[in-house]
Amino acid sequence: MTTHLLTGARPLGGEPTDVLLADGVVAAIGADARRAGAHVVDADGLVLLPGLVDLHTHLREPGREDAETVESGTRAAALGGFTAVHAMANTTPTQDTAGVVEQVWRLGRDAGWCDVHPVGAVTVGLAGDRLAELSAMARSAAAVRVFSDDGKCVHDPVVMRRALEYVKAFDGVVAQHAQEPRLTEGAQMHEGVVSAELGLTGWPAVAEEAVIARDVLLAEHVGSRLHVLHLSTAGSVEIVRWAKARGIDVTAEVTPHHLMLTDELVRGYDPRFKVNPPLRTAEDVEAVRQGLADGTIDTVGTDHAPHPREDKDCEWAAAAFGMTGLETALSVVQAAMVDTGRMTWADVARVMSTAPARIGRLTGQGRPIAVGEPANLTLVDPAARRVVVPEQQATLSVNSPFAGQELPGKVVATFLRGRATVLDGALVPAGGHA
Ligand SMILES: [Zn+2]
Repeated sequence: MTTHLLTGARPLGGEPTDVLLADGVVAAIGADARRAGAHVVDADGLVLLPGLVDLHTHLREPGREDAETVESGTRAAALGGFTAVHAMANTTPTQDTAGVVEQVWRLGRDAGWCDVHPVGAVTVGLAGDRLAELSAMARSAAAVRVFSDDGKCVHDPVVMRRALEYVKAFDGVVAQHAQEPRLTEGAQMHEGVVSAELGLTGWPAVAEEAVIARDVLLAEHVGSRLHVLHLSTAGSVEIVRWAKARGIDVTAEVTPHHLMLTDELVRGYDPRFKVNPPLRTAEDVEAVRQGLADGTIDTVGTDHAPHPREDKDCEWAAAAFGMTGLETALSVVQAAMVDTGRMTWADVARVMSTAPARIGRLTGQGRPIAVGEPANLTLVDPAARRVVVPEQQATLSVNSPFAGQELPGKVVATFLRGRATVLDGALVPAGGHA
């Protein structure tokens, strides 16, 4: 395996130093890192982060290989600085058996761009009534720890209670897509001033907040772990803050797009801005930024949701919900949180690597940058600027809400257990590294 010497890298944005990657681990940092024979990566001025970990990726395989495959999605992940992603369960067939999660896990391992951890469905076929074979998925080769019906809400309180009880046996977590179905029937966007003006059916904040409030109380009642996916309203942040202060074992996620975009964008009826949960108001954006900065929100999850053109290039009402995100997530977090002075790069490492790895119970990911630790690392150039061109991305889909927009920061290199998956901002083919 190639030995890499990163010269002048700034771990977590700190003082520049040299970092040697050898035999899959961080072999040396500082003066004794300079060794003959190593491939030198000029990291002058670049920020070195632990490899990013996404708890919320839709890879679409099996079933919708026209939107994304494990291969294409993990290429996108590597280019975005990720060394591990959790693949959501809403595939066809659903990831609700040991057989399907093992299939996705194997596809990820064979592709080799980053670790793929399949998420197991909570209920059979995401139908919301019968629990899937959670323990068989947990005991499978895929070693599933995160369970979610994402895309759908586990809305039956008895089913949710049983799931929370069940996952305790293997230290799992239920990741809830909080959306009260009756309150969001036919909903097309956030319910508020803009939806009223446009005459579109609105999606009230309370439809999200009511489920989160119920679930934190259920998690407390059964003494289990709950992860709230993509929370998007100021009220949701308040509920999670209250729950944490009460000692409830809850973690929460926000997406890059909810840190940046508002429902004002819907006025143009461009389906790229149609997403679930919907884009909210500027006050909500401010609240989720504050919640992420103060630790109420634990993670940034991409909710990378690729869709083929025919599902997005249509009128607003008919278009699919979802946005791509793997290749822009770090830049959006830099723009929303770092360049605004709200977070440091160490904070970014916490919300995009350490915390998601801990919630997913991953070993070897989200680790400190220290000698002997697995060399899962990302080098980012915070001074770079680039215009987002979806057609040039590795994802098979082009439904990026940031298309044509200039964003700060660029992933220069990604290392997976010491092997470069990305160098000089480009993928390194599998044959190119010993
Ligand atoms: Zn969701």
